Amino acid sequence: MLKGTALEAKILDGGALAKQIRGELAERVEKLKVEKGVTPRLSVILVGEDPASVTYTRMKKKACEATGMISDLIELPASSTQDEVKGVIAKLNADTSVHGIMVQHPVPSHLDELDILATVAVEKDVDGISALSLGRLVLGTADFVSCTPLGIITLLERYGIEIKGKEAVVVGRSIILGKPVALALLERHATVTICHSRTQDLPEVVRRADILVAAIGKPEFIKGDWIKDGAVVVDAGYNKVEGASHDVGDVEYDAAAKRASYITPVPGGVGPMTIAMLLSQTVKAAEKYA
Ligand code: NAP
Repeated sequence: MLKGTALEAKILDGGALAKQIRGELAERVEKLKVEKGVTPRLSVILVGEDPASVTYTRMKKKACEATGMISDLIELPASSTQDEVKGVIAKLNADTSVHGIMVQHPVPSHLDELDILATVAVEKDVDGISALSLGRLVLGTADFVSCTPLGIITLLERYGIEIKGKEAVVVGRSIILGKPVALALLERHATVTICHSRTQDLPEVVRRADILVAAIGKPEFIKGDWIKDGAVVVDAGYNKVEGASHDVGDVEYDAAAKRASYITPVPGGVGPMTIAMLLSQTVKAAEKYA
């Protein structure tokens, strides 16, 4: 591992890795088609018209199709009831041509998202955030893991970064990101600390990290001088900042890059890995089905 402040960190290039993974997936998709007559198919349910969600769901559909998969975008009105959304999921569960189902987060506030997610068949839960999938992650038996945490682990593993025995600090404890990434690091034998808004003396805890995962949602909240020399910095944050030319992460990038051995840029780090993992888990579901 690189040491010292004189060296700039190596970039963990999620954009390039995601592209490589999508290429590998396209080959697996083709093989499934030719050998088993099965085309992996992902159904994405969008409830309402939240602009960011509309963009994300279209990106997912495009990425599926570019990999040779089938993707359905099922757009439901914001006024949909709990039973209507669950009815759509029940049909998709029963449809053997559908291998993956994801419900775009967040659903409108009158709906109970966890209750909706609980109805997705576990063998099709390619987004990995139903109670059953999360429970299996705790048990170490998960087939599918929440896509951003899986993207982070994949990024570390493909860059050959040792996780076993390392001191990992995760800042953030959300169900889709902080908690599952902490569990996935623990599963790989890191010593894991999870921080949140009530953590006392966050800078001191962050200074212990060999591997830092920032999942907060506050621009450049983690300062460069909190980073231990040679640490691996994974910034999952994605924050719009007025006047900035691009989205900004949760870590003060330039200063952190002077201390870290590896760092993810924002954009182009964790973000592209998330969709690649959604595709990857859908292909895995289709392979299991076939
Ligand atoms: P979230 O549900 O809002 O959770 C944020 C977490 O940060 C909470 O656990 C919160 O602690 C913690 N936090 C807030 N203020 C803090 C402080 N001052 N000190 C320490 N911890 C603090 O957010 P999320 O959905 O996990 O997303 C986090 C970030 O990742 C956002 O920027 C989001 O855009 C990004 N994200 C990126 C992707 C991707 O594909 N790249 C995917 C998902 C999310 P409490 O629990 O105590 O409130």
